[in-house]
Amino acid sequence: MSEKNHKPDWVPENAGAEFTTSVMSGVDGGHDGIPGQASSSPMSRQGIPRRRRLTVDEYVSGVLAGDRNTIAQAITLVESNAVAHFDMGQEVLRQLLPHTGNSIRIGITGVPGVGKSTFIEAMGLHLCEQDHKVAVLAVDPSSTVTRGSILGDKTRMELLSRDLRAFIRPSPSSGTLGGVTRKSRETMLICEAAGFNVILVETVGVGQSETTVRSMVDFFLLLMLAGAGDELQGIKKGIMELADALLVNKADGDNRIRANAARADYNRALHYMAPATEGWRTQAYTCSAMSGDGIAAIWKVINEFRLLTTMSGAFDQRRQRQTLDWVYSMVEEHLRTSFFSHAGVGSIRTDVECAVIEGHLPPTVAAQMLIRKYEG
Ligand code: GDP
Repeated sequence: MSEKNHKPDWVPENAGAEFTTSVMSGVDGGHDGIPGQASSSPMSRQGIPRRRRLTVDEYVSGVLAGDRNTIAQAITLVESNAVAHFDMGQEVLRQLLPHTGNSIRIGITGVPGVGKSTFIEAMGLHLCEQDHKVAVLAVDPSSTVTRGSILGDKTRMELLSRDLRAFIRPSPSSGTLGGVTRKSRETMLICEAAGFNVILVETVGVGQSETTVRSMVDFFLLLMLAGAGDELQGIKKGIMELADALLVNKADGDNRIRANAARADYNRALHYMAPATEGWRTQAYTCSAMSGDGIAAIWKVINEFRLLTTMSGAFDQRRQRQTLDWVYSMVEEHLRTSFFSHAGVGSIRTDVECAVIEGHLPPTVAAQMLIRKYEG
């Protein structure tokens, strides 16, 4: 297949390329989850030099064969903001799409320090021992601020990153949350096509990113601590409503009793909340990511969830809804950018805003004026 012109006829030239322009540069390399580092291996398993640009067919066959170098390169391709890479990345994805979906997608959130990376490492190792193939991804829209991702960092999951059954990919370099999300979703699809059957998506439990991660996973797990202050609990309430399970971590040593008490408190609070997933009762559990206590039990809960929601149809319905939501969120993002960067709109905006604020123009008329100018 040629590298160019692989779009269906009805797709306009350069369609979609605008989605690549709203984020900063993607991760360049060395984040491929390969033990040691990527650059020490000049050849992939298929004997393709790493630096040479692969063809679409080479990307697709390499990913399907589970070749780790090719997986990493395919992710770098879809993370790239270069317009030239966009068409190719989308064609690779289109060809991989029939091989995606065969996984359980688990979102993991919690405030910094709650033990997310310790938990993911413990859970990941537990699953690898059971012959699962685990991919760990991260959604971290704040990483431009912190200059480098703090999530999905291999150094924080040392044992797991050395396990060949696992693949760890840090958050794409940040920009808008929308840009990071698109990349993470596409990375998730690549990992599924490569045969990873458990996808763990890590995010921080502050800000908007947990809502975004909720919208891309099947099961959403909220890690908590015992004895956090009341204000903190208030912040968590909104996130608690998104969760399919609450897990009070660090239930070890002297903290075990407090963790059990917190679990009981959370269960009482959950009793009055609508469940995040139809037909499923969100409950609180305890674990110690450090000792591994409770890890097998939470995996069992996740399996029960999968079985129950698959049987009821809720599992597939959510995925279908998520995929369509994804389409429309990209459309919305594009329209918003296009509207606010429209020269005609820009030329009347200040006057229209002043007129609304001073009470000369009803908001509905103002909106109509701006839209007419845009549609011009
Ligand atoms: P993250 O910021 O949410 O990823 O949290 P980390 O996984 O980096 O953990 C923060 C700190 O809590 C580290 O010092 C961990 O060793 C510690 N920690 C994590 N899980 C446990 C646990 O189950 N028990 C105890 N006692 N400490 C833990």
